[in-house]
Amino acid sequence: MSKNKNLFTLIPKVDELLEEKNIKKLLDIMPRKLVVDAIREEVELLRNGIRENSLNEEEVNKRNLSLPNRIVDRANRKNSLKLKRVVNGTGVVIHTNIGRSLISDDVMENVKEIAVNYSNLEYDLENGMRGSRYSHVEDIIVEITGGESAMVVNNNAAAVMLVLSTMAKDREVIVSRGELIEIGGSFRIPDVMEQSGATLVSVGTTNKTHLWDYENAINEETAALLKVHTSNYRILGFTSSVSSEELSTLKQKYDVPIIEDLGSGVLIDLSKYGLEYEPTVQDSIKNGVDVVTFSGDKLLGGPQAGIIVGKKEYIEAMKRNPLTRAFRVDKFTLSALEATLRLYLDESTAVEKIPTLRMLSASIEELEDKAKSLYELLVNNIKCEKCKVEIVDDYSEVGGGSLPLEKMPTKCIMLTLNDLSISEFERYLREYKIPIIARVYKERVFIDLRTVKEDEFNLVVDGIVYGLEGVQA
Ligand SMILES: *Cc1c(COP(=O)(O)O)cnc(C)c1O
Repeated sequence: MSKNKNLFTLIPKVDELLEEKNIKKLLDIMPRKLVVDAIREEVELLRNGIRENSLNEEEVNKRNLSLPNRIVDRANRKNSLKLKRVVNGTGVVIHTNIGRSLISDDVMENVKEIAVNYSNLEYDLENGMRGSRYSHVEDIIVEITGGESAMVVNNNAAAVMLVLSTMAKDREVIVSRGELIEIGGSFRIPDVMEQSGATLVSVGTTNKTHLWDYENAINEETAALLKVHTSNYRILGFTSSVSSEELSTLKQKYDVPIIEDLGSGVLIDLSKYGLEYEPTVQDSIKNGVDVVTFSGDKLLGGPQAGIIVGKKEYIEAMKRNPLTRAFRVDKFTLSALEATLRLYLDESTAVEKIPTLRMLSASIEELEDKAKSLYELLVNNIKCEKCKVEIVDDYSEVGGGSLPLEKMPTKCIMLTLNDLSISEFERYLREYKIPIIARVYKERVFIDLRTVKEDEFNLVVDGIVYGLEGVQA
């Protein structure tokens, strides 16, 4: 006890640290309170270290030496913007927690042009009068998907809500029990349905729903039949569901529209690129679905948006729904979406230029080359006897609730630490000025090359060096 007390007195005082030259310099560029907080927090960590790891005098002195640097790092972190870029080492391509789809530089140039200048957002240049913000993307969505008409709202959740509110308020919507899904972030079909004012009529069972289940439930209160893509899970084994094609046979017989929430909204045949076939938006339209909704930032690879495509009469009614104003997209989204959709006019351009599609279609040879380059950089730059770097085979995931069973073979850098804490190392990676988000599995850190860009390699190396210094300090 008394030994510990002595060690605490070895830690410099806040006032002394404020006089340290690198820390003092910070006072010119950031608020004093922030610097003092950074000092207090680092000192507290050191105190905890003494308490919990029973450091000896030599170790405390060693940590005291690096204390000013750690304080400067912490203060810089506190002074940086809260929403910031990270490196995605997880291999999950559409990772909702770290921003889903990336937008390419080319597309962002269009966004910048619109952002820093005035634009014809709601101005009809031909007639010199008020125009519609939806007009800029409507034609191209129609052209790509084959639908009659289209509009765009804030996200797919809003799209589903708007569709149900417009087409089924105070009436019934029939859904299969196997499709009453919950998507992360509390999007639940029964709840969305309730909010929209429509009444949910669920039919069939969890694993099996037949066409006659829908047919038996149709009555004069029925406003629509809803099909929901079971994005983030699959029911396997003894199952059956009704395809949109089969459902559309009921449409003619009973004159009820069919709505489909596709979730991801794929516009190209992914099986050409080694992925499982995922029904496209074009398929749904061809199969007779009246209104389809999907996300802009999942497999489509654009900005956050909810896209609605379908029969003109319904889309026109949606545009008049007051919810449309609440769900409306801003000009940045419209600009990014239009530029992204344009890339789809030529499929090979889309696959090459849209980051999400590029990462999903990356060949194993390409991933291996990237792994080798990063490996070389790492072994040449890290000095750590306790750390082993290897290239290993692994699997990446699509993410975003898309193709949940798909396992894409990939290459990873695997880091093994001897006698050092892997969780502490991972925390340092997350704390780095540009955080490195890695996968931790069985006491190892994995960095998947599928989601790391070549121009991020130096960052990854610096982050790992920072982390290794941290755990060894
Ligand atoms: C992802 C998803 C949603 C929600 O889409 P957001 O664009 O995130 O609002 C709704 N339905 C399905 C089937 C989905 O997969």
